[in-house]
Amino acid sequence: HNHIDHATPEKVLAAIHAGETHPVIPDYQGLAEYRADGGYRRLTELRQNGDWEAVQDAVAASGLRGLGGAGFPSGKKWGFVRANPGPRYLAVNGDEGEPGTFKDRHHLEREPHMFLEGMLIAAWAVEAQTCFIYMRDEYPAVLEILRREIAALEAAGIVQSGFIDLRRGAGAYICGEESAMIESIEGKRGMPRHRPPFVAQVGVFGQPTLVHNVETLYWVARIARFGPEVLNSVERNGRTGLRNYSVSGRVKNPGVYLLPAGSTITDIIAAAGGMSDGHTFKAYQPGGPSSGLLPASMNDIPLDFDTLQPHGTFIGSAAVVVLSDHDSARDAALNMLRFFEDESCGQCTPCRVGCEKAVKLMMADKWDKGLLEELSTAMVDASICGLGQAAPNPIRMVIRHFPEEV
Ligand code: SF4
Repeated sequence: HNHIDHATPEKVLAAIHAGETHPVIPDYQGLAEYRADGGYRRLTELRQNGDWEAVQDAVAASGLRGLGGAGFPSGKKWGFVRANPGPRYLAVNGDEGEPGTFKDRHHLEREPHMFLEGMLIAAWAVEAQTCFIYMRDEYPAVLEILRREIAALEAAGIVQSGFIDLRRGAGAYICGEESAMIESIEGKRGMPRHRPPFVAQVGVFGQPTLVHNVETLYWVARIARFGPEVLNSVERNGRTGLRNYSVSGRVKNPGVYLLPAGSTITDIIAAAGGMSDGHTFKAYQPGGPSSGLLPASMNDIPLDFDTLQPHGTFIGSAAVVVLSDHDSARDAALNMLRFFEDESCGQCTPCRVGCEKAVKLMMADKWDKGLLEELSTAMVDASICGLGQAAPNPIRMVIRHFPEEV
């Protein structure tokens, strides 16, 4: 993507000093350019005489899994949704609120139509009546790009007016949880629902709903056009596929890196230009704060779905944050728990009260490890959704891997 000029901090500052208003829109691939490159041909073919099961089989063969964090096999979702009578909806999760994650933004600011075509292919596959795009409001440039390009799709007759309903999030982390996102789309306070019933059965306005993450749909378009080989032909460390790692922290060049899914933290740091000058690698967050922290000594684990499970963590949305000898693992974990305390929706006691108590206990000079462990167990066992269930991960991992700090 190097040919595309982006809204770098320097460019934004220059624009502001020149009196331009925010947002600065990066140069991206518009509709005409995308179509000239073969875009939307596959969608047209599929709409004319396509077999949705064949596309679903290609998605399954590619090994694509949900890239919002949960990792559900994408090749299984369409059949589940279609098994329920319509009208059906498609809801795109573009909330991208996991700290350290910016891969969806990366794609949307470059190739918005690759995502939009993937979305329209998925909508065709489940015969969705409307596509809701729930987009993070903190991405003003992305919102503006989508507004423009949805209007262009309507003007070109590729979608009917109103078929794509662009919704703005309101800054709540919990609205990245699919059922809370659906509540928010319905105009209610974003609070996760109990399951079952699953959103494939009872989703937006009580109707069967297909929920996909932005990047997942980007890959759906590529798989539909180029075949499952775009993902399954790559292998590293016994893992197949590619992963967009959002890399930040003490590395020379933070950014999004598309690497084989079996990459280790050593590979990822190397891709990001190595450690920042004067910093020695100490620890890393493999997949957002819910995934906790691993020590530098555990640098040979492929960072993929399932591979981190034996170590008590997961890859999530692949938000890798690199910590150095200048950082305290204990402070990082406290910061994570403060975030969860702020972002807990407050619906259930183990999470609402648990996060608050954990923060207080973690502020003590010496951690009461027994009490923190007891609290963690209650939160994991009794919280309604993933936020409360995963919130104790940073606590447990600091106790396990950095006992000298606590
Ligand atoms: Fe809300 Fe936390 Fe309960 Fe999830 S676990 S429903 S965020 S209070």
